[in-house]
Amino acid sequence: MQVVVDPQSLGEILKGRHDVGFVPTMGALHGGHRALITQARRECATVVVSIFVNPLQFGAGEDLDRYPRSPVADRELCRAAGVDVLFCPTADVLIPRGTPTQVVPPPEMTEVLCGRSRPGHFTGVATIVVVLLHLIRPRVLYLGQKDGQQVAILRRVCSDLHLGVEVRVCPTQRLPSGLALSSRNRYLAEAEGAIAAEIYGGLRAAQHLFDVGTMEALPLIEAVRAHIVQFPQLVLEYIALVDAPSLRPLARVSSSPDALAMLAIAAKIGLTRLIDNLLLTHGNPTQTHSRH
Ligand code: AMP
Repeated sequence: MQVVVDPQSLGEILKGRHDVGFVPTMGALHGGHRALITQARRECATVVVSIFVNPLQFGAGEDLDRYPRSPVADRELCRAAGVDVLFCPTADVLIPRGTPTQVVPPPEMTEVLCGRSRPGHFTGVATIVVVLLHLIRPRVLYLGQKDGQQVAILRRVCSDLHLGVEVRVCPTQRLPSGLALSSRNRYLAEAEGAIAAEIYGGLRAAQHLFDVGTMEALPLIEAVRAHIVQFPQLVLEYIALVDAPSLRPLARVSSSPDALAMLAIAAKIGLTRLIDNLLLTHGNPTQTHSRH
């Protein structure tokens, strides 16, 4: 595995390589990242992982300064998972002027769900991911369904800018408790981790209703809420049912096998903000998923 910090060396290493799979991350790697890398390893000749704690996607008062960092363990995970190139640029190199030219995704996708409480977040994400895509020129970009809004927005950005990259989405990796793996889980005390798993408990309650035929948004959302309110340490930010590719709000899950709905949630436990989601569809979720 080659570890590079500057774009020039990266360019030299990747010269002539056309079958590149790219996994962008912010480090503090865990099994969710490993699943993306493993899929890329299976599907591409060269696997590139980036680790960059992107200052553009943190708002004032968010956790940029205390965001978990574990460079030694990250390197080891990448090496063991068969990564070819680990790109770890510093902010000075990647965005030398601090505020770069920005990629601004459509506001109807960035001002909903997490965008309501994190203004500018998805512009920061899109800007850096497009910079990285230009440097790496991958054939496939690997993203995790855990960040469902990010998936929808980056698909849209790649399509609108004709970047010619294929976007593939890996299912959310979870602890046995159901808690979605996340770098921010490192903030949680053990007791908080058990309570945080009830976020997925709420989603599962809605999944059960959906499985027995409920398609309307209101009872599905209410099922999540009724579960979550049993745990006063969980402070709900939102629960919403949206069309997964466009993020438009839905009144009900469509019965069309082509439609893909996302039931998305954000909640805080203490200072830690966690997100999760479920895909609801009457089609084959993996097939429907890969089409959008
Ligand atoms: P991050 O380092 O949090 O920016 O995440 C980097 C990539 O890993 C993103 O595409 C995330 O959606 C993905 N990811 C994070 N957590 C998980 C998870 N639990 N399961 C699958 N993918 C994940």
